[in-house]
Amino acid sequence: MITLNNVSKWYGQFQVLTDCSTQVAKGEVVVVCGPSGSGKSTLIKTVNGLEPFQKGEIIVDGISVGDPKTNLSKLRARIGMVFQNFELFPHLTIRQNLTLGQVKVLGRSEDEATERGLKYLDRVGLLNQKDKFPGQLSGGQQQRVAIARALSMDPIAMLFDEPTSALDPEMINEVLDVMVGLAQEGMTMMVVTHEMGFAKKVANRIVFMDKGVIVEDCPKDDFFTNARSDRARDFLAKII
Ligand code: ADP
Ligand code: MG
Repeated sequence: MITLNNVSKWYGQFQVLTDCSTQVAKGEVVVVCGPSGSGKSTLIKTVNGLEPFQKGEIIVDGISVGDPKTNLSKLRARIGMVFQNFELFPHLTIRQNLTLGQVKVLGRSEDEATERGLKYLDRVGLLNQKDKFPGQLSGGQQQRVAIARALSMDPIAMLFDEPTSALDPEMINEVLDVMVGLAQEGMTMMVVTHEMGFAKKVANRIVFMDKGVIVEDCPKDDFFTNARSDRARDFLAKII
């Protein structure tokens, strides 16, 4: 579903990604971890064309992301992205947040968009919040709405960038539970997170990054039991 071949990226003179290669097969969950500043957010943003890259190639569902002929907005509409800070539209109700993209980007009718949006809102357990504004919800609830919004677009894959790191500890699990459910239903997911409990439960593979390089890319069990690099071992020792 997602293939990265030797992707390199620079911000000016600074090389932020160096020859990054990995794959996410359909239905697979890949957790990306590594120290702060190692390039995780940049890597995940290159996948749906939110950040350009200068070398290598990225193919998503057969479409080349770096090809100037690729319609990036069309591609992005098919890939759900959930960020650290929810990014809901503050001036719209939850229901309007759920329908806007479906109507504007996918051309669905208001009725159809509402039906689908509310179905996913129900699924994340928040149907009774549909007429509220984002500011009236807790962080954990807002993040669940953000996930429901992404799902209403019928994504072929979901990208998550530290979806729980801005949450109070008591809200982390309600968001992780939704993500675990998605993973168990076979959603293709690339998840930047330091929640190793989540990784142990549902990840197929772990990608460990350091200084813009993919240092490890291995099945979950290998990563936790015999990470090869010192850097991965140090990282694990600090966070577990
Ligand atoms: P991570 O998500 O692993 O914390 P990032 O991908 O956010 O790392 O950042 C990787 C590196 O790129 C960091 O050193 C960061 O300072 C740098 N960086 C990120 N965004 C920019 C930018 N827009 N311009 C210049 N440097 C950036
Ligand atoms: Mg980041």
